[in-house]
Parts: sequence; structure tokens; C-alpha cells
Amino acid sequence: MHRSNLSASERRFRSRLTQLIQQHWLLRGTLSVRSRKCGKPTCRCTTGELHTSLYLVQSQQGQPRQVCIPRDWEDRVRQAVSDYQEMQLLLEELSQLEWQRVRERRKE
Ligand SMILES: [Zn+2]
Repeated sequence: MHRSNLSASERRFRSRLTQLIQQHWLLRGTLSVRSRKCGKPTCRCTTGELHTSLYLVQSQQGQPRQVCIPRDWEDRVRQAVSDYQEMQLLLEELSQLEWQRVRERRKE
């Protein structure tokens, strides 16, 4: 692969992808806020003010699994999930460009 022959947009995709992989946490999954009552009879949640927790939900080899995200991890996890999604989009863009080249029998 001769990098100099790539289009400007393809070079941009690749360099952003490299940056994501080298400098970011990456996490596949979706975030879901769950509300619940804690069970304490005097707690404010008994009057309808439920406790909320953030969960990361993921399918691993076809099996769903989830993990509760502590408050002080929320920013990091939200960022990692969003960076993973961006990485997936970038990979798809690169795959599209390569698809085009194969279809047009264009080696570079
Ligand atoms: Zn409660």
C-alpha cells in the first residue's frame, strides 16, 4: 500500500483510526439507564424518586451480558463507547473504499 496514492479523505480516515487505537479506550456495547427501588422502607425511592444506575450492555458470542458503571467511571465509559462507534464507522468507510478498488480492478 502506497500511502501517498490514497485520497485525502482516506488518509484522514486512517489517521483518525490510528489516533483512536493508540490514544483512546475503546468499548463495544450500548449504555442503558435503569431505575429501581432499593428496598429501604424510609428511602425517598418509595415516594417515586427512583435510584438510577448506568449499565453497559454487550452481546458476547451471542450471549448478552451487562456491567453496572460506577458514577466516577461514567465519563470514561461514555467516551470509550462513542470512540468505539466512531472507529467502526471509519473501518466501514475504509472497507467501502477498498470494495470500490476491487470492483474497478484498481490496485491503488
Ligand atoms: Zn432507595
